[in-house]
Amino acid sequence: MSHSRKRIALPSMTPGTGRSFAVHRFGKAGARPKAYLQAAIHANELPGAMALHHLLPMLVEAERRGRIKGEIVVVPVVNPIGLSQLVGNNHLGRYDFLGRDNFNRNWHDLSDAVAKRVGGRLGRNAGENVALIRQAALAALTAMKPSNELQTLRAEVMKLSVDADVVLDLHCDMHAVLHLFISRRDWPGGAQALAADLGAQATLYNDPYPDALTFSGVNGALWARLAERFPKANIPRACLSATVEYRGQHDVTHALGESDAKNLYRFLVRRGLISGRAGKPPRLKAEATPIGGMDVGYSPKSGILTYHLERGARVRKGEAVCEVIDPMDARGPKARTQVIARTDGILFSRKPNGRLAWPGMVLFRIAGAKRLAHRKGMSGLDD
Ligand SMILES: [Zn+2]
Repeated sequence: MSHSRKRIALPSMTPGTGRSFAVHRFGKAGARPKAYLQAAIHANELPGAMALHHLLPMLVEAERRGRIKGEIVVVPVVNPIGLSQLVGNNHLGRYDFLGRDNFNRNWHDLSDAVAKRVGGRLGRNAGENVALIRQAALAALTAMKPSNELQTLRAEVMKLSVDADVVLDLHCDMHAVLHLFISRRDWPGGAQALAADLGAQATLYNDPYPDALTFSGVNGALWARLAERFPKANIPRACLSATVEYRGQHDVTHALGESDAKNLYRFLVRRGLISGRAGKPPRLKAEATPIGGMDVGYSPKSGILTYHLERGARVRKGEAVCEVIDPMDARGPKARTQVIARTDGILFSRKPNGRLAWPGMVLFRIAGAKRLAHRKGMSGLDD
């Protein structure tokens, strides 16, 4: 087998236009393990696409040398709809202009469809269950009749990912250090090696899995949802799925792309996708912490935003992280409102200096080990 590249066309939404996305495949179709990697579902988040730009030639070379043992599917930019959303010299790629959906929500939870198809046949044999569930999930996606471009994109992309052993969804934040979102049950499991190999400075876990139907969420949670539903059947966690936040939107350089690609490659070797020696994982930079321990700073008012602390800083509870300045107020320092950390932890994400803040806007996030009473679910992820 050799590297193949295919285009998947989406239905045209307006006369004279049509979009598609490219899928790169390595290894033999059906070989195990299978990894699926994609970038830029939020279409204006391109650091992951830069990492894949450097990873793809490495995979081409590995294939040429016969080193791909499993199957690797790479979609370097997965969202042509979002890529096309240019407005007044700005590229807006987070929300769909047509339905105003966040592109990384409303992915398909296939647990009902799988339960209906094969629920009665799930038994004690884990391997058989995995095969049955994957077949049923693919059949459910094939049976869908998407009515528009975005729905088609969601079904077509999940056909590539839903039977994978590893799913990595590459995103970025606005001004952040490299961090991961995972499921509690994958830690330490496969996710600790992922965090170490990628050099994550924070890893946040949903317990047991995210409520919001994010892309990496639905792929990983399918197994947990079915295991809850069929407690007597032996249903393993057959998919390690993670959202990888490759720092901030402007952290796109060849140096970063190259080192991120090398780290992804080493992880693929470690997971048995590619032959070779991964060696000992690099030192883990941060223990995983619960989403419920993530302090989110919200703006109390409108004004000019400026920060006291850099991304990645260790913060103490009570410390001022940033301030919102009322530009219409002449009282100097009295016109500045401090926004305070409510936990000890790592300031893994913030906004750039100089943004306009508005009431309720997310200003920063801190990964703390202690669950916080004021936190609930996924809130604070800039829905
Ligand atoms: Zn994103």
